[in-house]
Amino acid sequence: MSIVAIVGRPNVGKSTFFNRLIQRREAITDAVSGVTRDRHYGKTDWNGREFSVIDTGGYVIGSDDVFEAEIDKQVELAIDEADAVIFMVDAEDGITSMDEDVAKILRKVTKPIFLVVNKVDNVQRIQDAYEFYNLGLGDYFNISSINGSGTGELLDAIVEKL
Ligand code: GDP
Ligand code: MG
Repeated sequence: MSIVAIVGRPNVGKSTFFNRLIQRREAITDAVSGVTRDRHYGKTDWNGREFSVIDTGGYVIGSDDVFEAEIDKQVELAIDEADAVIFMVDAEDGITSMDEDVAKILRKVTKPIFLVVNKVDNVQRIQDAYEFYNLGLGDYFNISSINGSGTGELLDAIVEKL
């Protein structure tokens, strides 16, 4: 089964999106192998296509203080394991140095990368999101993990690449 990993710095909304995807399906947790490997696994399907999702950073305690190097490690692990990668950023905060760091790694990856601007809950945020072109990863998807807007279009694009 294909694997899609969700990466990004803390608080951008990775777990909120993950939980929306797996809904009532059971999340499989794997918290034994150390901080950088802690992740949530879940299964979901879209348009009849089933795939696994990894939520990285799920168990990092005090995740606000997580070191940039730890995030980089999680990104590298996710890239190794996944068939496609969702790189989530936050329209509320705009680009941060951690985002730039992750983007730098992902620009070298040949697997499908989906740049996803989360927290686009209103029209103003659509304007705010334009700056994410500067990450050098091309076009992006605007979504709101809270109200679900844009998520269908994103999932259509993902399953097309799996
Ligand atoms: P993670 O650290 O990347 O897993 O982020 P979380 O999923 O834990 O979310 C961090 C915070 O962002 C929480 O307070 C969420 O409720 C909030 N959040 C997540 N998605 C959205 C969204 O689409 N819009 C808004 N306004 N807040 C969101
Ligand atoms: Mg999380």
